[in-house]
Amino acid sequence: MTADGATILIVEDEPPIRRLLRTTLAAHDYRILEAGTGAEALQAMRHHRPDLVLLDLGLPDRDGLELIGDIRKLAPVPIVVLSGRGDESAKVAALDSGADDYVTKPFGAEELMARLRAALRHRLQQQGADRSFSSGMLKVDLVRRLVERGGEAVKLSPKEYDILEQLAIHAGKVLTHRHLLREVWRDEAVDPQYLRVYIRQLRQKIETDPASPQHVLTEPGVGYRLV
Ligand code: CA
Repeated sequence: MTADGATILIVEDEPPIRRLLRTTLAAHDYRILEAGTGAEALQAMRHHRPDLVLLDLGLPDRDGLELIGDIRKLAPVPIVVLSGRGDESAKVAALDSGADDYVTKPFGAEELMARLRAALRHRLQQQGADRSFSSGMLKVDLVRRLVERGGEAVKLSPKEYDILEQLAIHAGKVLTHRHLLREVWRDEAVDPQYLRVYIRQLRQKIETDPASPQHVLTEPGVGYRLV
């Protein structure tokens, strides 16, 4: 999918990073709105309808997580967070607060564009209720609850399917351990070790080489992503 002139609201207080974001996004035909503070971000949200918000978590006037909640109250817009390297707990907190994804600073243009495309596509899919996922050898039919690898049916246990279903519904997006425990086990307090066991089993069944997965990717300290 191309950008199709989607409008991105950049919320970032550091001028050099903002300039870099502006240049990168403009080169990919995105339209750009800018804010340097949380107050400016909310102001921009009230006066425009951005298709996506790119949000730096470290702003001078507002707590980034609170700001995610405030933006969410105004519009169901996808939010991609910019965060520092190694700050896994901040990423998890942002995802659990309603952010769609994150990009770690310093970021590469390719990675940034891939994350933005995935977040925009995911929102379109939710609106159009795309009921299947297909990539390489893997096919997931979410209506008939069928999984195929290279044209052959794959038999999954109910839990394995439920995990894959969540990943497929949110394809391209990282899902936190908490999200998966809540949706699959209906209990966030379940030991994440169970999740790791089921992910391992799932990879045995759907990956060509389970030791180096191409579909179900681990985001260390955060969760899993289907690509
Ligand atoms: Ca900052």
